[in-house]
Amino acid sequence: MIILSGPSGSGKTTISHCLLSKFPELKFSVSCTTRSIRNNEIHGKDYYFLSVASFISRIKKYQFAEWEEVYPKLFYGTLKREIYKNWKLKQHVLFDIDVKGGLNLKKQYPNNSLSIFIMVNSINILRKRLITRCYENSDDYKKNINIRLNKAKEENNYAKLFDFVLLNIDLSQTKKKAIQIVSNFIYGK
Ligand code: 5GP
Repeated sequence: MIILSGPSGSGKTTISHCLLSKFPELKFSVSCTTRSIRNNEIHGKDYYFLSVASFISRIKKYQFAEWEEVYPKLFYGTLKREIYKNWKLKQHVLFDIDVKGGLNLKKQYPNNSLSIFIMVNSINILRKRLITRCYENSDDYKKNINIRLNKAKEENNYAKLFDFVLLNIDLSQTKKKAIQIVSNFIYGK
């Protein structure tokens, strides 16, 4: 398991795409979410977009390895099925998940996981990134920028619990470092 966590807007999705293109033996873990779909997203590839009722029914059936109410009334979760499906195919699984979810998986699979926290050194940079992103998306998303920024401040406190912390100042440098760390994990030093 390769767990990428960090605040929304820290660059972890870009880094996860970079890792997926670099390592053919890596498979992205598609999470479930109840948030609305963005313009550039595809159901089943970026997320499984579920209604709240369907999400709750899966919680009741113990189908999630972990789930969180990442933002008020917005649920995100990793299906157990998604992990085992990829392990059966002898693939390493890459997770782009929030800090609590990442730490939860690390706790459940201490011997099978590598956890990386992507950090940004300024809340202003995060705000700019989130605003840029919101131009491409719905009004619904714009309302959530402040919620995401407040959560980011809280999430940074958990960075020290991850195996590696990458400060994402220069994206190409961060990608290189992430590739090196993942390469060491997959192929051994
Ligand atoms: P976004 O709405 O920007 O796609 O994601 C919001 C946050 O939810 C991000 O920090 C993302 O990594 C996190 N997230 C995505 N999938 C999961 C999941 O399955 N579980 C948890 N706990 N968080 C997730």
